Amino acid sequence: MEFTRAESFLHEGLLQSFELTKYILKTNVYPREPTPLKELREVTTRHPGKLMSTAPDSGQLIGMLLKLINAKKTIEIGVYTGYSLLLTALSIPHDAMIIAIDPNKETYEIGLPVIQKAGVEHKINFIESQALPVLDILLQNKDNEGSFDFAFVDADKENYLNYHERLLKLVKVGGLIIFDNTLWGGTVAQPEEAVSEDRKESRRSIIEFNNSVSIDQRIEIALAPSGDGLTICRRIR
Ligand code: SAM
Ligand code: CA
Repeated sequence: MEFTRAESFLHEGLLQSFELTKYILKTNVYPREPTPLKELREVTTRHPGKLMSTAPDSGQLIGMLLKLINAKKTIEIGVYTGYSLLLTALSIPHDAMIIAIDPNKETYEIGLPVIQKAGVEHKINFIESQALPVLDILLQNKDNEGSFDFAFVDADKENYLNYHERLLKLVKVGGLIIFDNTLWGGTVAQPEEAVSEDRKESRRSIIEFNNSVSIDQRIEIALAPSGDGLTICRRIR
């Protein structure tokens, strides 16, 4: 799949060198990308929102982390056509589960046939909703507290801190919460005047989020400059 330079910046990473980004994808990522994920990427290219899919190099890192922590109970906020969802479903054991939340069922249904063909639909509980009310309902049941191994957040940036607070209660000590797009196309390091109007508010939210998690003593963090920036939070208390 070929991208213009602008598309590749948004979709494939923040590396300064387009050639280097392509090199990483061609040598390490695409050759090892599971066939269903390739199919899902292909299906998604026909959709106008295609650049929203999780970058394949980030996907490779997320899949590795899911296996390293042996994640079984997971949650995803922001599904779109399901690249990160299918990646998670393929990376966790047969009897593991994902609660996947997105108010847009139509886009989920674009990728659903690929998920079904891959034989992993049974792991997925898709909830058509805004995420915050679902998280609040989950938190009403004390049994859910500290019961999740893993969470992936890739939705409305304005709510990242709200998701963080709730997920810190739902994810166990030692579990991971990963937030996507935390470098926001590189705009976090640019003066606000240089940023287009439509990205200003989300940029402010991401900066506020980054500042807040950087001093949050309940977690350890690593900000991986993969894709559009992945902040990996490990709950420690
Ligand atoms: N992780 C997806 C993937 O790999 O293809 C991409 C997700 S896309 C960047 C963002 C998604 O967040 C959209 O599908 C949108 O409908 C969803 N979204 C927006 N606001 C939301 C909210 N309040 N709660 C849950 N999902 C939301
Ligand atoms: Ca994203």
